[in-house]
Amino acid sequence: MEKHYFDCQCECGEHFVRFVLDPKVGDVWTEVYLRPQPWPTRLWNAVAYVFGQRSAFGDFDCVFLKPEDRDRLQQLLARAARAAPKWPPAPLLGPTE
Ligand SMILES: [Zn+2]
Repeated sequence: MEKHYFDCQCECGEHFVRFVLDPKVGDVWTEVYLRPQPWPTRLWNAVAYVFGQRSAFGDFDCVFLKPEDRDRLQQLLARAARAAPKWPPAPLLGPTE
């Protein structure tokens, strides 16, 4: 597996995304860092979530890719596409009479 890190434009150490490429089959997935919180905060967030409370800013964070990383990400996805099986797969041929 190949691991490719992309830092956020803000340079915060908590803002990055890691793309993992399986070069044999072209699978790509992302891994995102989740900021650790003390357990009372996590418990409070869980209770609030169960009761439907939503953050005014949304329950997500973001990573702004750096302009200089665009080509690197594009090349990674192009490599994955070349390694992946073609889609749609060729139709299976049945027995002929
Ligand atoms: Zn950031």
